[in-house]
Amino acid sequence: MSDARALARAYLEQQRLMGGNAVVLAGDPTSSPPPSAAHPPTPPDPEPRASDRDVTAFEPPPPGLSFDPPAGDLFSSDPIQQAADLQVIDRLVAACTKCRLCESRTHTVPGEGPADARLVVVGEGPGRTEDATGRPFVGQAGELLTKILAAIELPREQVFICNVVKCRPPENRAPQYDEIAACAPYLFRQLELLAPKVILAMGGTAAQALLDTKQALGALRNKLHRFRGIPLIVTYHPAALLRNPNWKRPTWDDVRIARRLLDR
Ligand code: SF4
Repeated sequence: MSDARALARAYLEQQRLMGGNAVVLAGDPTSSPPPSAAHPPTPPDPEPRASDRDVTAFEPPPPGLSFDPPAGDLFSSDPIQQAADLQVIDRLVAACTKCRLCESRTHTVPGEGPADARLVVVGEGPGRTEDATGRPFVGQAGELLTKILAAIELPREQVFICNVVKCRPPENRAPQYDEIAACAPYLFRQLELLAPKVILAMGGTAAQALLDTKQALGALRNKLHRFRGIPLIVTYHPAALLRNPNWKRPTWDDVRIARRLLDR
């Protein structure tokens, strides 16, 4: 230390003892400025909360198709368009003879679930057990759907579940184009009344009907589609998962995306 710095230090020490402010000499490696109220030390960035992490980490899939069929018209003479609630749709479906599927049905299966459901699951059409009971997604495939929903913490009772066609195709064949065209207005009106936050289309038939496309399911998966502006995710039908368990993993990926969209 030079004589000048030694003198200065002795002077400042004398000032401090006399009640003066502490002074730190530049270049003194043993001293560091004390924190002051005006300049408190900067705290480290806080750990994000779990919920923050979830939101920031979620990257929605790339945008896909968008289908926007005409909405209901109050002045229309079409009773489907004029249906004021889901019960009216149920009654119209019960009396419907618009396509040949009415000839072999035991019960119509319009769908079930709360009117304020945030998620709507759409499948293809009723099978044997559904036709016998009038309820959608019962039997083995229905049990698997209930498990899939439970895995994303959605009790089945909180979800509206329905199909594209409301009567069972004979021998569980796929519904034909004219049958889908005849029945789709019921589904579209249901979705209009429900106005859910997310739609989960299970299987190629549901996806193609809701997106007005002929693209295969494989090309429609892992994209964020929209039906009348409502986010729509496409995944495998539970009946297909029973036949091919290898599709369970991609289905799990799809339903988790639907869950994240619900949480946004
Ligand atoms: S499938 Fe649909 S359009 Fe055909 S008879 Fe049943 S409710 Fe009517």
